[in-house]
Amino acid sequence: MDKFAEKYVNSFMSELIARNPGEKEFHQAVGEVVNSVAPYIVQNPQLMDLKIMERMVEPERIIIFRVPWMDDNGRIQINRGYRVQMNSAIGPYKGGIRFHSSVNLSILKFLAFEQTFKNSLTTLPMGGGKGGSDFSPRGKSDAEVMRFCQSFMTELQRHIGQDTDIPAGDIGVGGREVGFLYGQYKRLRNEFTGTLTGKGMSWGGSRLRPEATGYGACYFAQEMLATRGKSFEGQTVVISGAGNVAQFAAKKAMSLGAKVVTLSDSNGYIYDPEGFNEEKWEYIAHLKNVLRGRIKEYVNEYPTAKYFPDERPWGVPCDIAMPCATQNELEAEDAKKLVANGCYCVCEGANMPTTPEAIEIIRGNGLLYSPGKASNAGGVATSGLEMSQNSMRLHWTAEEVDKNLHTIMKDIHESCARYGTEEDGTINYVKGANLAGFIKVADAMCGQGLV
Ligand code: NDP
Repeated sequence: MDKFAEKYVNSFMSELIARNPGEKEFHQAVGEVVNSVAPYIVQNPQLMDLKIMERMVEPERIIIFRVPWMDDNGRIQINRGYRVQMNSAIGPYKGGIRFHSSVNLSILKFLAFEQTFKNSLTTLPMGGGKGGSDFSPRGKSDAEVMRFCQSFMTELQRHIGQDTDIPAGDIGVGGREVGFLYGQYKRLRNEFTGTLTGKGMSWGGSRLRPEATGYGACYFAQEMLATRGKSFEGQTVVISGAGNVAQFAAKKAMSLGAKVVTLSDSNGYIYDPEGFNEEKWEYIAHLKNVLRGRIKEYVNEYPTAKYFPDERPWGVPCDIAMPCATQNELEAEDAKKLVANGCYCVCEGANMPTTPEAIEIIRGNGLLYSPGKASNAGGVATSGLEMSQNSMRLHWTAEEVDKNLHTIMKDIHESCARYGTEEDGTINYVKGANLAGFIKVADAMCGQGLV
């Protein structure tokens, strides 16, 4: 980066930090993008004059609201609800809803900011948004989750709509929660529209939406591996998380010939040296999605596996690592272990799971590395396909959706290569994804005047 671009980054970031004190995840996400796009911005001074980047980091709107609900013991509980409507330059706001005790404004602003670039990369007309609550569904009864979702939607419904803002799932929001949210939306608005995605198959959902983020991450990884003449066949894969993204990343990697040996949750990880197979995968899906159990229970069923409490799986030797749980779950020490053990590809299924220090180690050692905004974009892309099907009032087959998803992931890889290929021929996926995502949104903002 030249001196002028470096100066731009430094002054931009100090202003951002001063204006948004304490929002460390938001600073981290913006810092990564600004570092990638600064050379382009300083070469195109109209972007500076129009303050495009300054506008991109200021959400168009933030809604914060009280969510009162009653637990099964008749006690009143209060949570906080949020929707960050970040950027609508290329389409209506689109992004998931997260229910987790750690949710705060910094996390949702980072996610909404990332979402803007990710959605731009998908080639579909979707702006960026994200929402959620500090409510945790873990340990709550179905009735409690329903009452919470109904109260949350009673306020949120005023601010969303099929042409305005279309939420979906994220951590803690799966098929059950989307169902309760959609039911309440429909009841209050008296309309059956595609305002949420991730819906059930019998009421407007798209085939393959549950699978899409994990499958898409594997399709993206396939493209990365192909640049080195490799594939999933015969490779050992370490995956973190045990939720939606992790489960389907594992399933697709297995079907492509890989041996997947770990999964995790916030309490620890399981290591199965024989690798998962279809039967074991079905057991895990039932344990997590139906029984809502913990991943450690796997070793009771399959005693050749081991459970490691309070640890992450990154010390397990592997060829490919796929962090699919949450932000900042792969730190510098973890990255060093991956490098030492011969891992050569890190493909993110989660959003911002790798810290900046870890990325430096991973890229510095020549590993393939893809940021989540590129490799996990298959989820929102398939949500976009769900929106199209809802508007046309028809359903595509699984094969049609899978074909579209596959094409979109290949196109995203191509965009990363177009904007991120370095002089030595290697692809800088961070730079490529950020630049490709940025240019489209910036062009739209330039064309739409000062709004
Ligand atoms: P789920 O709620 O289905 O699963 C989340 C998994 O991550 C659980 O196993 C959970 O364990 C674990 N986890 C959550 N928080 C932590 C933490 N602080 N430390 C360690 N483990 C944690 O969520 P998803 O699979 O949907 O989402 C996973 C990631 O993928 C998130 O970063 C999300 O933003 C991203 N993503 C999801 C998309 C989707 O379509 N669902 C689309 C694109 C990105 P526990 O049960 O212990 O909490």
